[in-house]
Amino acid sequence: MEKIDCRSLLETELSELCAEKGLSKFRGRQIFQWVEQKGIRDWREMSNISQADREKISQFLSLRPADLIREQKSKDGTRKYLFGLADGERIETVLMGYEKDRSRDRQTICISTQVGCPVGCLFCATGMEGFKRNLTVGEITGQVLDVLRILRQENPGSKITNIVFMGMGEPLFNYKAVLKAISILNSKNGQNIGMRRMTVSTSGVVPKIIQLAQDNPQVGLAVSLHSSRDEVRDKLVPINKKYPLASLMAACRTYSQITKRRVTFEFALNNTNTNKSEAQGLVNLLKGMMAHVNLIPVNPVQGSGVHRPTREEMLMFKKILEEAEIAVSFREEKGLDIDAACGQLRQRLECERA
Ligand code: SAH
Ligand code: SF4
Repeated sequence: MEKIDCRSLLETELSELCAEKGLSKFRGRQIFQWVEQKGIRDWREMSNISQADREKISQFLSLRPADLIREQKSKDGTRKYLFGLADGERIETVLMGYEKDRSRDRQTICISTQVGCPVGCLFCATGMEGFKRNLTVGEITGQVLDVLRILRQENPGSKITNIVFMGMGEPLFNYKAVLKAISILNSKNGQNIGMRRMTVSTSGVVPKIIQLAQDNPQVGLAVSLHSSRDEVRDKLVPINKKYPLASLMAACRTYSQITKRRVTFEFALNNTNTNKSEAQGLVNLLKGMMAHVNLIPVNPVQGSGVHRPTREEMLMFKKILEEAEIAVSFREEKGLDIDAACGQLRQRLECERA
């Protein structure tokens, strides 16, 4: 009999399963707490469950935490983890260090949702590698649990307060699993991370943006825009050919109407999109919308064909947005010294292995 991955189950599912297997229903909650709150890596850690029950549990549930392959620490506090999954695939998870002007209690984790990515954005190391497979629910929640476990070895009081689905992969192409992972991470007896502290980032899967607003209006949305012109965006973010800017912006407006929340637009400044007509185009797209723009200098990725603009060009771009009263922040990227851009660490290790 195939065992079920315990990290992929809701508390209610665990309780029902325990009842089905002749265990007390209460065991479901206990297991959920051990797995999703404390992040155990071995059934023997469940000290309030008898050995006989632990044995029974291990016959129908599997607990297969990821292996830590490498941890990198940046000077700015960012940490990057490369994890090995049960089938040998590798994924990256990034932990953002404390932000200078925010409360020191904030700890944001950036998690992956797929191995590789089918979208193939021009500047993205993950996209360059093509698509392997979707992550399971347990592999998504597991990144939070396994990183927390590492942090707690250093500081037992460690907590993760915010989650961004901005690691490897297109979260809205793994929609069901991402939604269930969000639900598990939000659970009171799990990590109890508020829905409003989770943000899903997408390259622009239009129908799923609208579905997300309907299914979970609490969770935040970031859209990787990167250009205000279809002919440029077609090249940078090829999914634009399927869902061009007009349909994407309409979906974002619908999202805001349903959720009453503003959308964050990511804009990776590079030599193809940092000019006056792009900035003016962006102003036109966002006028009257509940929006926030995040400008990020593109992270140099080997073989990408795009590079950074000058600082003057980037500041000129920002000024045009500010003058049009669009909320904008300029994010000097984190962890440059540890290849923290999406997919870069994995790419380098693949090269080392080859
Ligand atoms: N697939 C989703 C989420 C993962 S990518 C998406 O595209 O939104 C997370 C963010 O990193 C996206 O905004 C993406 O465009 C950006 N990104 C990828 N490679 C980058 C690079 N080399 N420099 C700057 N941003 C990059
Ligand atoms: Fe995929 Fe996002 Fe990378 Fe584009 S930027 S290839 S959508 S992971």
